[in-house]
Amino acid sequence: MDAEKTRADGRPLVLLDRVTVKDKKKDRVILEVPHFRLDRGETVAITGPSGSGKSTFLKLLALMTNDKLEVEGTYLLEGEPVGDMDPTHLRREVSYCFQNPLLFGETVADNLAFPYEIRGLDFDRDHALDLLVQSGLSKEDLYKGVGQLSGGERQRVALIRNLLFLPKILLLDEITSSLDKENSQNIMAWLWDLRAKEDLTFLLVSHDPEDRAMADRSFPIPMRKEA
Ligand code: ADP
Ligand code: MG
Repeated sequence: MDAEKTRADGRPLVLLDRVTVKDKKKDRVILEVPHFRLDRGETVAITGPSGSGKSTFLKLLALMTNDKLEVEGTYLLEGEPVGDMDPTHLRREVSYCFQNPLLFGETVADNLAFPYEIRGLDFDRDHALDLLVQSGLSKEDLYKGVGQLSGGERQRVALIRNLLFLPKILLLDEITSSLDKENSQNIMAWLWDLRAKEDLTFLLVSHDPEDRAMADRSFPIPMRKEA
């Protein structure tokens, strides 16, 4: 319902205006975004040299910058100022995926049950199994120990954890850069397939030109001169 309403009234999913992120201690600006608009269903590649602020950009969208950084400017999510939102709730809608994700507990199931636990819901095992299979893992992997997983398997489990309840925006921060070509391609193909089916919105940072070429457009972040 909400999604349709948003589409109908033409509000962007994300609007940033005159946003700056500053390192408080050094009093140094590390990222400046004069203006950024993201519409529902878009996939945008965030590009720029290493250290230009791509991760900071994605983290600020998920309200994940730490307290050493000061964020100023306007950030509206579906027209609402995020300052009025609980960060934990915002992160269910704007979901950040790490290059080296942290898995916890003992088994894959411990990780996939977690999104249900925090919402006070019963674990939907069938849904978790579905996503395991879609991602290229097998149903038996649900009870595998997290210590037995390969890098590619860990990344799939972490992504599933972010996808059991679909966020509005998925922030993909170099998620395949520590994986081999075949694993990377399979994971991206799965995500692209899901994106088409579910009408998801992706922001991605990737060193792989093929990933960037799949995006609808690029948003370059220039290196700051004084950095
Ligand atoms: P990229 O992802 O494009 O490589 P980052 O967003 O990681 O760039 O970093 C941009 C700049 O901000 C770098 O100079 C980095 O050292 C600095 N930076 C990132 N996070 C913090 C932080 N929490 N405290 C201080 N400086 C930071
Ligand atoms: Mg980065």
